[in-house]
Amino acid sequence: MTKQRDAQEAALDTLKKLRAQGHIALLAGGCVRDRLLGRAPKDYDVVTDATPARVKEVFPRARHVGVQFGVMLVRRWGFEIEVATFRSDGPYSDGRHPDEIRFGSAEEDARRRDFTINGLFFDPIEETVIDYVDGRSDLSAGVVRTIGAPELRFAEDHLRMLRAVRFAARLGFDIERGTFEAIAGLADRLRSVSTERVWMELEMILVDASRVRGWSLLVETGLRGHLAEVWPADEADDRRVCDRLGVLRAERVEPALALAVALKGRTLEAARKICRGLRLSNRLIKTVVWILQSLPALQRDDALDLADLKMLMAADAWDLLMELLRCDLTASRGDLAIHQRLEARSATIPPEKVAPSPFLTGDDLGAMGLTPGPRLGKILDAVYRAQLNETISSKRDARKLAETMLSE
Ligand code: ATP
Ligand code: MG
Repeated sequence: MTKQRDAQEAALDTLKKLRAQGHIALLAGGCVRDRLLGRAPKDYDVVTDATPARVKEVFPRARHVGVQFGVMLVRRWGFEIEVATFRSDGPYSDGRHPDEIRFGSAEEDARRRDFTINGLFFDPIEETVIDYVDGRSDLSAGVVRTIGAPELRFAEDHLRMLRAVRFAARLGFDIERGTFEAIAGLADRLRSVSTERVWMELEMILVDASRVRGWSLLVETGLRGHLAEVWPADEADDRRVCDRLGVLRAERVEPALALAVALKGRTLEAARKICRGLRLSNRLIKTVVWILQSLPALQRDDALDLADLKMLMAADAWDLLMELLRCDLTASRGDLAIHQRLEARSATIPPEKVAPSPFLTGDDLGAMGLTPGPRLGKILDAVYRAQLNETISSKRDARKLAETMLSE
């Protein structure tokens, strides 16, 4: 049995337990959309007329998530099912969240959702789709359209503009004309959305196989210029980003690689600023910056000695770096000779020789009478480089080299 089916069964079981207590319970949102499209849903959400307090009675161990929205998390066989009470959202004044919510009817709950394709319910017992928002016709036509007036819906929650792009890209859908125009008109409001949320959406757009379409839609809607204050749109650069994204091989790529591909045209300083502006984790920033700053060394591969190459290969992001090089060469010149040479060279280096433990340590040098300090560090580095370059091959050689350096 696949994991997906288990998650689905967990949701079904949750739903049946609510029904057994006389409640309405349906599947909602993304899982309904994905099932109708024949795609594997990421997760299953249940909606019900039971209030959170009632849900808690039926599932005593359910946890509140987003108390303000009346969403409960039920754990079933290791799967987490969100159980949300039908609601309607009150006015929005922060451009992201409703000021208040009110529990309501199934139809109200469908109408508070963002896009018609996300507003469908499914009754898995009767096997019927419940469609208050004309979602099914948009689903078969392949259209992302807001539920209700797009200007209003995007003014309520500015993040929905990025979501529209993400769904259109991922599903290969068009953004309905009025919806598209509303995004184009309101794109600059994206700036008031928290950077973390912007990055979460952007990450999903960039790592997905549909990243080229995603990036193009960001550019076409004008959202591209408002992703981060320190990342102004640049028409020529944005085109090159698209070209490079199109070369990326994997169905899903590492966020660090996708970002490096997007930022490659910027200076290292600018790239670092943009990463910080997007509030990425330090770890992710470090990886992106390392990839970008290591690329020029690969591009002058004849100047890379064996030690240089091994040190690059020893890094966790070596594969990502090579993939960036391949993308960059393919997108810019189409000549992959450098990449091929590096692949051939690195293939000849056995794994145990990439980052061997050093022949000589600081303690060894200490025993030779050297006190800790910059000089010791320099000698250690030089001896290790010699080891990586395979110009020395034993601890004895290493000691001799250190002695020679000491006497200089
Ligand atoms: P994914 O497969 O990416 O998870 P999804 O449709 O399940 O897609 P979620 O972000 O998980 O998207 O949200 C679940 C559902 O909640 C959506 O299908 C939509 O109906 C509703 N929703 C989520 N975010 C918003 C929003 N910002 N505004 C209105 N409705 C939303
Ligand atoms: Mg979801």
